[in-house]
Amino acid sequence: MDLSKPRATLPSESLSPAFSSQLVEVYDTTLRDGNQSVGVNFTSNQKLRVAEAFIEAGVDYVEGGWPNETNPTDLQFFQLAKAMDGSLHPHVTAFGMTRAPNRRPNEDKNLEALLEAGTKTVTIFGKSWLFQVEKILRTTATENQLMIQDSVQFLVSRGKEVIYDAEHFFDGFKSNHEYALSTLKAAEDGGASRVVLCDTRGGSHPSEIYEITRQVVDEMRVPVGIHAHNDRGMATANSLFAVSAGATQVQGTMNGLGERVGNADLIEVCANLHLMGVKSNLQVSRLTSLSRFTYDISGLREDAFKPFVGKHAFAHKGGVHGDAVLKAESAYEFLDPSTFGNVRAITVSSQAGRASLLATVHRLGFPLSKDEPKLLALLREVKALEASGCNLEIAEASMQLLLLRALSKKKDPFRIIDWEVTAQNEPGKPHARCTLKVSVNDKTVEAKAVGNGPVNAIDSGLRNVLEMAYKQDFLAKLTGYRVREIDSESATAASVAVYIDFADGTKTWTTVASSTNIIEASLDALVDGYSYGLRMRSMSKHQRKDQFRSRRRTRKHHSV
Ligand SMILES: [Zn+2]
Repeated sequence: MDLSKPRATLPSESLSPAFSSQLVEVYDTTLRDGNQSVGVNFTSNQKLRVAEAFIEAGVDYVEGGWPNETNPTDLQFFQLAKAMDGSLHPHVTAFGMTRAPNRRPNEDKNLEALLEAGTKTVTIFGKSWLFQVEKILRTTATENQLMIQDSVQFLVSRGKEVIYDAEHFFDGFKSNHEYALSTLKAAEDGGASRVVLCDTRGGSHPSEIYEITRQVVDEMRVPVGIHAHNDRGMATANSLFAVSAGATQVQGTMNGLGERVGNADLIEVCANLHLMGVKSNLQVSRLTSLSRFTYDISGLREDAFKPFVGKHAFAHKGGVHGDAVLKAESAYEFLDPSTFGNVRAITVSSQAGRASLLATVHRLGFPLSKDEPKLLALLREVKALEASGCNLEIAEASMQLLLLRALSKKKDPFRIIDWEVTAQNEPGKPHARCTLKVSVNDKTVEAKAVGNGPVNAIDSGLRNVLEMAYKQDFLAKLTGYRVREIDSESATAASVAVYIDFADGTKTWTTVASSTNIIEASLDALVDGYSYGLRMRSMSKHQRKDQFRSRRRTRKHHSV
């Protein structure tokens, strides 16, 4: 068969019942392949937040990075992941390569580092293409097969589940399919739990991917996965055709981040799998928030025109289309936007907004009904905040605080009465000083602090006050700080939105505030973040007390 030319016939979208009943695993490599995107560089704390968010949404495997000496961020991430509670552990994978040529696995530093990462699963890659074996690895065909087999075997013997990524598999198969297949067999014989076919250069066509994957699935005993790069703009199609041919694991990144033009976009792939009737553990209703979260944390500008999840994906301007959609949504929409957590833009989603606001109100424990005037007033406040440029979807703590301030009898744990910051350029002296007047526990406290910049000075001053007042209850730490321009055409007079991330060892949260004054926006977002942390801590304390009381009541009842 000549695989260099695309074949004319492609499988239809509807799969045979055997495939559609199969669960496809979602394997995310945003933190490793995605981190290779130009302009993206996750810190270890950001990696942790990403892993938590993806796993919570149902991603089966989150590849955390490549732990080795030259990668301190990844080493630190795996340390942090190890220290977290057990929920991350089964899903986080460490990535690395097979042993080096002519070296024993137990003497190979890369494999050692993979074991030390402490994950349940490790993913290693090896070569399938003889050209790569001879020209890049500079070893023999046989040694390469041995490298794959005994590296997998070594890791399996140390109790790891091993996923084997066959790098350049499709190129290798097209040049020498027997050899390419023999490398997969080597991984299977070594005990790999999955073999994953990589279109590393992204140069394959869906029909080739379909044919080759089908042949591999027929040959292998273990499940087969697909890892597609997007150099021809076909990575989503290639992933879907591989699934049609029997692949049961899809690897990719959120929003298609990745080297060169990126990897298969899991947002698009998973939305399409859902439409094809293929099941996965990922909750597709979370795709919109996952996409926006990933844009935000990776520091990239959101693509409003992105299929399924973009802000404009279901936006209908007035005129014929808008009018038609008001009469019948299906006139210009092929599916309901809420399937993927998105909303139609024409109605400004007052319905959807009200429903999601009500859900948050109930989650916080307030028994409001959907027609209560209070709820409508709150909705107006939320909309006004969003109109001022604050994206509450990625800063839910700010939204929850707004609700708590309106609905709870509890006052904020502290309040800023006055503040002043000065910044100067004197060599050898602190760059900024601040004076804060804070009302806390019915007392007015004045604090002075210095910092390497105005925000840092304010943060130090505020932290000093709160640490004194709340002692061990004040655990919040600042883990991220970002500024987004809102009306960039106003140049330096533009409004900005400041997003601040916090963590307290058990959970993470984000706040947002906007202003034309960057220091004021920063202070407001800081105040919200620390208030939220203290409020949540006191709420969980009360819950624990309530549980304790009800246990005591139960025990009393039993003893009667
Ligand atoms: Zn890749």
